[in-house]
Amino acid sequence: MPNKYIAEIEKLVIDIAGVLFTVITEAEMIERFGMQGQIDFRTNQIVLDPDMSSRDTLTVLIHEVVEGIIRRYQANIPHETIVFLECSLFTVLMDNPKMLRILLEEAETGKRDIELEEKKQNTVEEILNKE
Ligand SMILES: [Zn+2]
Repeated sequence: MPNKYIAEIEKLVIDIAGVLFTVITEAEMIERFGMQGQIDFRTNQIVLDPDMSSRDTLTVLIHEVVEGIIRRYQANIPHETIVFLECSLFTVLMDNPKMLRILLEEAETGKRDIELEEKKQNTVEEILNKE
């Protein structure tokens, strides 16, 4: 099945906890490296094989974003947990378009709640300091 989102996805710049990552595609990643996607922290790129279905591309993108979050906070989380988060998060997102629409509407206001962001940041740091 052709990937109807790939042209749009290729233009994406994704903000992962304040670090910007550009999404690019690289042909034959699966054949050559056995990987559907990769997040590169030297070049700040998320690299995806363009020869995947739309759904596969989106779930791989979520996977790489989760990898980015984990790496950003230097959290000691096993790769299987990343896969678990990718799969479970993707399923919840796909199952709840109405919730996504509300989140999208709020995100598109571009408003920031610094107090809430700081609170969330502190929670992340508290969790990480317990490890
Ligand atoms: Zn991975």
